[in-house]
Amino acid sequence: SPHITVVGAGLAGSEAALAAARLGVQVTLYEMRPARMTPAHRTGGFAELVCSNSLGGEGALQAKGLLQAEMRRVSSAILDSADHNRLPAGNALAVEREGFSARVTAAVRAHPNITVRDEELTELPDGVAVLATGPLTSPALAERLVQLTGGEQLAFYDAAAPVIAFESIDMDVVFRAGRYDQSADYLNCPMNREQYEAFYTALEQARSHTPHDWEQLEFFEGCMPIEEIARRGPDTPRFGPMKPRGLTDPRTGRWPYAVAQLRQEDQEGRMWSLVGFQTGLKWGDQKAVVQLIPGLENAEIVRYGVMHRNTYLNAPRVLNAALQLNADPQKLVAGVLAGTEGYLESAATGWLAGTNAARIALGQEPLVPPQESMLGGLVRYLASANPDGFQPMNVNWALVPEVPVPEGRRKLGKREKRPVMFRRGLDAFCAWARGAGLQVQDVPDPAP
Ligand code: FAD
Repeated sequence: SPHITVVGAGLAGSEAALAAARLGVQVTLYEMRPARMTPAHRTGGFAELVCSNSLGGEGALQAKGLLQAEMRRVSSAILDSADHNRLPAGNALAVEREGFSARVTAAVRAHPNITVRDEELTELPDGVAVLATGPLTSPALAERLVQLTGGEQLAFYDAAAPVIAFESIDMDVVFRAGRYDQSADYLNCPMNREQYEAFYTALEQARSHTPHDWEQLEFFEGCMPIEEIARRGPDTPRFGPMKPRGLTDPRTGRWPYAVAQLRQEDQEGRMWSLVGFQTGLKWGDQKAVVQLIPGLENAEIVRYGVMHRNTYLNAPRVLNAALQLNADPQKLVAGVLAGTEGYLESAATGWLAGTNAARIALGQEPLVPPQESMLGGLVRYLASANPDGFQPMNVNWALVPEVPVPEGRRKLGKREKRPVMFRRGLDAFCAWARGAGLQVQDVPDPAP
């Protein structure tokens, strides 16, 4: 009978194994813990939450809320366990972590179609397989992945800069330009001396109350965190990533005192990352510092900067939107290894990869969810994002199409349009899943 292998029983792998098993396929699932631990995990349980206990904001205003709703409809094991182990946490889906992991572990181990092998896999498996070994993939398997995809396509740590929603950028202040006569691919936030000094002071203060876990990391040239650059002196950022040379502000006809540049992250230009601003600052501090940049006073950060160990593929170079490796379409990838960030995103891509692996084993075509759905938006982003300096991505509203602005209106507020995007996405997702012959549960989403 049809068979697949799943490697890793974390957030993505547990979901992948159950999704495939539910479609009648035999699954062999490899998990190396507890015999071999990672630097972040503490137990042998499946779907262990290594840090916070939150699966993100809930409800129709939240991008994570839409992804949660989609996953509930297709009987996600992670959502089932989260709903059974819920803790009060305002508008977020927070869980009691031991009960959460225990329920997922029991569901996986009890499934008649799943055989668990409690061992590390050090070679790529034969046949159809889902690779879901996460941000701390064991070195032996990472080596095999390097051989399959080419060395430059696998990153071992994440030095990410904040990513900002275009709709929150004040284009009356920011100007589009390239340096000297280069093409105008960048958005430039011009700073005068006063603004730069205020920004520098805030950055220095934020640095002084940040624990520096990442100091153990060896930085590649060009990957130094902005707060570390700032530590070298007040003018260092201004002669480094914030240098204004060749960037003429059309409003003054001159080069500003300093510039913060933004580079496009997605094809439609709805997400922009701050160039050279990789940072390990706390999220609250990051927001405060970023909002001191002219034009970014109301910036909505769709993905915060991070500095930590992370193993992930350059998804736009090596994957398609069905999560298959271009180099071997029988191998699918999910979770952080596939370039997602976050527990919920890992589980959701795990579900899709497990479903598609089962379909391939059954001789059917793999599927891609519709672009209006949050999962569809995420996997399309993974396959089509800017591959230069690609960083793992959380779900956010810029991944799905905008809603049209009604005639006579200049723009729609978030509270008006997000429930529309939520309804549209969930309807499209359910129609797609039913059309593909997948079981869709008619369950209510808990009100946040
Ligand atoms: P994992 O959940 O890590 O699962 C991978 C599994 O594969 C592990 O069980 C591992 O033991 C196993 N494995 C690895 N190699 C092998 C092998 N060769 N053979 C067999 N098994 C193997 N996200 C959030 O949403 N909130 C947070 O607070 C958060 N904090 C994080 C903190 C740290 C330190 C890190 C590294 C990441 C954090 N993340 C967080 C990001 C991400 O959401 C989690 O790492 C998430 O667990 C990723 O899911 P995954 O399935 O891709 O990997």
